[in-house]
Amino acid sequence: MTASKLLRKAEQLLARYPLCDWCLGRQFAILGYGLTNRMRGNALKTLLLLVSTETYQKDRKRGSTCLKRLAEKGMFLPALQFLEKEGITGITTVKQCSICLGVMEQLEEIANLAIQKLNGWEAASILLGSKISPDFVEREEQLRSELQIENGEPLKAEINREIGKIVIEQLDIPVDFKSPSIVVVVHIPSFTVELQVNSLFIYGRYRKLKRGIPQTKWPCRECLGQGCTRCKGTGKMYPESVEELIAAPLLEVTKGKSVKFHGAGREDIDACMLGTGRPFVIEIMTPRKRSIDLEAAIEKINQYAQGKVEVSQLRFTNKEMVKLLKSSSATTEKTYKVITQTEKPLLLEERQKLEAIPMPLEIKQRTPQRVLHRRADKVRRKQIYELTVTSLKNDKVTLLIRCQGGLYIKEFISGDNDRTTPSIAEILGKPIKCIRLDVIDVNLPEEELQR
Ligand SMILES: [Zn+2]
Ligand SMILES: [Zn+2]
Repeated sequence: MTASKLLRKAEQLLARYPLCDWCLGRQFAILGYGLTNRMRGNALKTLLLLVSTETYQKDRKRGSTCLKRLAEKGMFLPALQFLEKEGITGITTVKQCSICLGVMEQLEEIANLAIQKLNGWEAASILLGSKISPDFVEREEQLRSELQIENGEPLKAEINREIGKIVIEQLDIPVDFKSPSIVVVVHIPSFTVELQVNSLFIYGRYRKLKRGIPQTKWPCRECLGQGCTRCKGTGKMYPESVEELIAAPLLEVTKGKSVKFHGAGREDIDACMLGTGRPFVIEIMTPRKRSIDLEAAIEKINQYAQGKVEVSQLRFTNKEMVKLLKSSSATTEKTYKVITQTEKPLLLEERQKLEAIPMPLEIKQRTPQRVLHRRADKVRRKQIYELTVTSLKNDKVTLLIRCQGGLYIKEFISGDNDRTTPSIAEILGKPIKCIRLDVIDVNLPEEELQR
């Protein structure tokens, strides 16, 4: 575009629409670099003033038409001052830009509102967004189609950028387009500010040392959490859970509202989780504090959980880790210590039979009857890698079983009315049941989680 073409375009715009510097400049936003649209708009108005004062010297009528336009619709003070000096009166300056209705002049004010709103919220990074009433966009689109503007940028992009610049500079927080701690959304033209606070994700491993605790909070079956006589008003099936024991101290230090607990699989309520523990991610919703001392948090949790649950290896992570945990848990190797009971003590040859099972052993397991109410009825194929008889006392046999994740161990022992096959009961040819189950190891290598 030649200089005269550019100026003509600017002049045409001002002939039809009152425009502030920002809104005029935005129509040429892709031209130049390192400039604000306000600078672009102001430069164009200045050039138009220079050109039209020269025209004015030669042709007063033509020159003053352009100068009046600049003063009136361009709201350009130097043009008004020039006309006043020349004794030309009767100029009525438009008070408001026809596109932004003066919003662009108030960016600083909006940014200050955003800064106030962020007070009390710790953020490692932020992103500024906006919700702009559609009539702003419609007005600009109309102007652009009328005058074939092709070098503009959306009003929204400019508002986000310019307010963002002020907020970021004042608070000294970096911008993050991918995963900011907080998205600050300004509403235009109401000037209300809304914060979308993203969750804080903490990874760790937990050990469960006491039986009878579910992994996650379990709403009362009778009242679905409302509180009734069955649950003694707690709304829960169990008074505590691994989730709650870990969450309470973390909610206190982060001042978060609630949590979501994501485990790499889960053990039965009556099973302990031993060894190095089970990987988990706890997602803290709307935290006010983020840079918490994780070593101190470990101590705090372990103290609070009074030996029922222990956590270790806490570290900050992100949403991706939740997906990784979920996708890997079905195949992750697990090792169990299982105490089983038979009607009569096992004979030596029966023990030998168990020890002679060729490994790996493939198990076909139809969804156990006890979980049918929450799981689809289907057959899963799972591998057993290792099975050792570690002790045999009277009618109690202790087994160590290393297998693929997702195998239901209790049913592998009992056979679950032939829904699991082969099973220990099937191999022995007599009834046997699991009376105690502990998870000894969840073999999810840390390296796999670092990817
Ligand atoms: Zn404007
Ligand atoms: Zn209840």
